Amino acid sequence: MKDQPRFEQNIVALVYDFDGTLSPEAMQHYGVLPSLELTPEEFWGKVKSERKENRSEELLVYMREMINLADHKKVKLDRKTFQDHGATVKFFEGVTTWFDRINKFTSEISEGSEIKVEHYIISSGLKEMIEGCAIADQFKEIFACEFSYDQYGHPDWPSRVISDTSKTQYLFRINKGVLDVNESINSHMPNEQRRIPFDNMIYFGDGDTDVPSMAVMMGNGGHAVAVHSPNENSEKCLDLKKAKRIDYYCPADYSEGSELDRLVKATLRVIVSRIALRQEIFELPPVGKI
Ligand SMILES: [Mg+2]
Repeated sequence: MKDQPRFEQNIVALVYDFDGTLSPEAMQHYGVLPSLELTPEEFWGKVKSERKENRSEELLVYMREMINLADHKKVKLDRKTFQDHGATVKFFEGVTTWFDRINKFTSEISEGSEIKVEHYIISSGLKEMIEGCAIADQFKEIFACEFSYDQYGHPDWPSRVISDTSKTQYLFRINKGVLDVNESINSHMPNEQRRIPFDNMIYFGDGDTDVPSMAVMMGNGGHAVAVHSPNENSEKCLDLKKAKRIDYYCPADYSEGSELDRLVKATLRVIVSRIALRQEIFELPPVGKI
């Protein structure tokens, strides 16, 4: 007798933007810009004016500008210095303990069934910096912009650029379980074969660059959450809510008992019950063979 096929869509994915979502400022403000003796206003002012003048892609301009400024100012930038700068990145309240708490909560509400949680980053910041930050170990995969490095270990070209719209490619990679970026993502895969269905996923973002990702999540039955700095107003989030791009929004306070903590746990309860029901239905005897 053939073995009963196993129910495998039992993984929950929490997918985060980085800057403004987990960390209050753009990651380049910690370490990299101070080492180049630039204020964020000076650096981004230069990037934005060149973007406008040459009708360029802003991410390409900022990455190239970093290389040029480091060369010009004789400041060492390599994979290790990016990681060291990443170690200085600060996080919103409660972020450093969030992942363990969420994993524990999900396993508690799953009542012994095999539901797993995975955390992912999709960011237009630098992968090397995120790899050096205090929470890097919490992520199954970090998708972010990357440099290629010359024979001396110096960054010489952007090898990967993740813009607002290209972020959605990585949502599909998580959905289909195709995490290796060398593998094509475009071949057809029926929904029931996808590793993590969209409705098992929650996307966390803070603004405009997250709109395409939020739209993909909401359009496919997934969940999307917007956060704003507790010190800033929630106008941008309110616009996202009005446009139905998110389920809800709240201050970026990840500590136990915060509004975000409470709402995400309520969302996880829904996801976990849905998975449990699907598993029960999946394991029912085939029609006509009862
Ligand atoms: Mg952001």
